[in-house]
This record gives sequence, C-alpha cells and structure tokens, in this order.
Amino acid sequence: MSDKAALRALPSVDRVLGAAEAAPLVARFGRAEVTAAVRAALAEARAAGTLPDAGAIAATAGAQLAARDRSNLRPLFNLTGTVLHTNLGRALLAEEAVEAAAAAMRDAVALEFDLATGRRGERDDHLRELLRELTGAEDATLVNNNAAAVLIALNTLGMGREAIVSRGELIEIGGAFRIPDIMAQAGVRLVEVGTTNRTHPRDYRGAIRPETALIVKVHPSNYRIEGFTAEVSGAELSAIAREAGVPVMNDLGSGTLVDLSRWGLAKEQTVHEAVAEGADIVTFSGDKLLGGPQAGFIVGRRDLIAAINRNPMKRALRVDKIRIAALEATLKLYRDPDRLAERLPALRLLSRKGPEIEAQAQRLLPLVAQHLPPGIDVEVCACRSQIGSGALPVDTLPSAGLRLTAPRGRDLEALAAALRELPRPVIGHVRDGALVLDLRCLIDEAGFLESLSALPGVHGLA
Ligand SMILES: *Cc1c(COP(=O)(O)O)cnc(C)c1O
Repeated sequence: MSDKAALRALPSVDRVLGAAEAAPLVARFGRAEVTAAVRAALAEARAAGTLPDAGAIAATAGAQLAARDRSNLRPLFNLTGTVLHTNLGRALLAEEAVEAAAAAMRDAVALEFDLATGRRGERDDHLRELLRELTGAEDATLVNNNAAAVLIALNTLGMGREAIVSRGELIEIGGAFRIPDIMAQAGVRLVEVGTTNRTHPRDYRGAIRPETALIVKVHPSNYRIEGFTAEVSGAELSAIAREAGVPVMNDLGSGTLVDLSRWGLAKEQTVHEAVAEGADIVTFSGDKLLGGPQAGFIVGRRDLIAAINRNPMKRALRVDKIRIAALEATLKLYRDPDRLAERLPALRLLSRKGPEIEAQAQRLLPLVAQHLPPGIDVEVCACRSQIGSGALPVDTLPSAGLRLTAPRGRDLEALAAALRELPRPVIGHVRDGALVLDLRCLIDEAGFLESLSALPGVHGLA
C-alpha cells in the first residue's frame, strides 16, 4: 500500500472520539486532552506506517494520558528498612491528624481569629497550650521545619554577636544543613570550643566574653562519638550560661515527647527533660520521632519566644492551617501515652518486634514467590531497620524481610526498576547483591500482593 493510501485508511480524529473506547477517556481527562492525545497517536501511526483502527488509536491515547496523569507522589510501599525516611516523606500521620488536616482544607477555620471575642487571634495559640503541657516550657512557637527553627532562634538571639558550640557538635545533616553555615546565614559568629571528642566546662567558660550572645548545644543526630570522650551535660551548660547571663539553646533535632524505652527503643532525652535541665530554648522537628507533619517547634522562656515571634523572619517561615490542624491532632495523642503506639503510625512501626515481622515474612513468602518473574529467588532473611532522619543512628532495630536474588546483577536492577514502576511502587534496598524488602513498614499486605501481581515479566530476565 502506498503512503497516500495508508493516510486515507487511518480513522479521522472525530471517528476515534466517537468510538466507544473514547467515551470513558473523555469523561476522565476532558475533551481537549483526549483530542490532543488522539492526534498524537494518529501521527505516530502515520509515521510508523501502521493502520490501527479507531479503537486501537483510542487505547494508545488512553495509555499515554494515564501515564501522563500518574503522579510521582502516589503512595508507595516503603520497604527500605528506614522508618522515618526523609526522601520518602518521613512520618506517616495518624488518622486523627489526616482527618483534621482534611477538615481544615475543606472549610474556613479560626486560624487567626478568636472565637470567644470575635477579634483577631494568633495562629500559634492553637498549639501553645498543648506544647506547654507536653514540654513543661513557659511558651512555644512553631515554624516551617526544625532547620527554620534553628535559623530564626539563632538570628533572634545572636545576630551580630557570638554563639559558642562544642567542636563535637558541629553537625551536618542531609540536605546541606550544617551548623557553621546556618550560623553564618543567621548572622551569628560561631565560636568553636573543645575538640572533636572532648569538650569540658572550662572550654565554654574560657570562651565567654562580652560579645557572647548564647551557648548552643546540638544533638549529634546522625553519628555518635565513642571511646575517649567528654561532653558537658545540658544541666552543667545551663549553670555556666546562667553565671554568664546568656541563654542556652538546645537543638534536639528529632526530639521526642515521651520516653521511648517504654516501647523497647533506646532512651533519648525528651523535650521535657531538656527544658527541665535548664535550656532556655529547645528546638525540635515535627516529622521525625514526634510522628507528625513537617514543622519546627521552638519552646522555652517566654521573653525569648516573644522576641522570636517579633522577628520578621517568622512571617516568612510560618506554618499553614493544614499543618497546624494535623499537628494539633498529633500532639493530642500524646495526652494518652497508653494508646500512643496504636494510634501514632511512626511509633507503631518503630515498636514492632522482630519475631512478629519474621512471622509476617514467612506468611508472605509463598504468596510473593508466585508473583515474581522466573529466575528470581526469594527467601526470608533477618535484617536491621533504621529509625531514620538522624534519630538514634546507632540503634538499629531487629527486623525481617524478603531477600530477592537473581542470577545476574542486571536482572536484579531490572527487578528493582520494575518494582518502582508499579502502580503502587515497592521500594526496597540493595545489599550484598540482593534486593531486601524489610517488612517493618508493611501494613497493607493485601495491597502489597495486589501490587506485585501487576509485575510484568521483567525485561532482560531468562
Ligand atoms: C533533623 C535536624 C535538624 C533539621 O530538622 P528538619 O525538621 O529536617 O528541618 C536540625 N537539627 C538537628 C540536630 C537535626 O537532627
């Protein structure tokens, strides 16, 4: 057939749009989108010299529209073994928080409006009392994330002056947050004291001078210094600062409101304890161990919080109604610690016991094996989960998973890619030549198996 004849034999755009297969596409994507996709599919067929009928063109257009419509923010299965995975969005919110956020999104709320008086209110008021209650601090405020909390606190308390920090605490955490850089951006001169492994009270005392604005303690979130070490406790630091008449700021990083040893996790200093030992300002994240949405909390002395709230940066770093609603619902769960692990997903996942996860792995093994392409082997393996987000870096949690292996490395790569391409992607982690799916964070087993059933015969496999 000549090119001209082929051209004539292709259906018109209108014919394709009139085909039964096109109707659901128009309903889902709208006429303009479908028309453009049909034109593109026809052009492709013309270029390839093929003669698909109207139904086939509609199907091609539909597949393209669906691919274009698919969000990369769609829910996935985090089987990486890192519970609070920054790249996968950190803490999963409690249902209570999800509902509160959805309600606040849908309707007007009294964000900066006092329902009692009818006058203007403060957006921080919704959380101030809760935070005071849960931390024992005099006052509290919140900003976009903990990096912002550290930035605005340093800038307010120390601009144009000096802040003293131990050399053992000059941390870098992911995403280019480095204490020396944040100090510089805040307009504060960093005064390093001590050495990497040992800092003594006399080091802080010796550095205090009229230019000193504050002493800063930073939680070494993602590393631990072991061996011949010395650090000055928060309580000692507060005494030194009080003598000198300057405030102490304690950046707890993850920050937790409860003693995690109750759920078998390593003990971390709580925000309450940091406040009680005399820190004037304590900063911590909303979406790490606390288990809420992204936010940065600043709690502490009333006069210092008031000064932070007067900083023009506060307006630039403020939090919206959706997150405030979710945070309020999350913080309220802490009023009932007995049910916290049931209701707060972050804690529920972190407190799962190894044997329970292993039983889950044994149960899923034969079902998962059914869906894997030929050539891929699967077995149950022991593994260690990480808390993530720089919380308790050395304390990994005994866990179990499925260990997938392939005869050739590139088959494993292809399998990992196919798992990432699923309608609900499955993200594992490659270790020692195997793809390990740590099951600690797997709640929806049925959804997981259904996802795997969509796995195509992986390209490149025998
Ligand atoms: C994580 C962390 C931060 C930054 O908190 P984000 O909520 O990620 O902005 C700051 N300081 C310390 C010590 C941290 O661990």
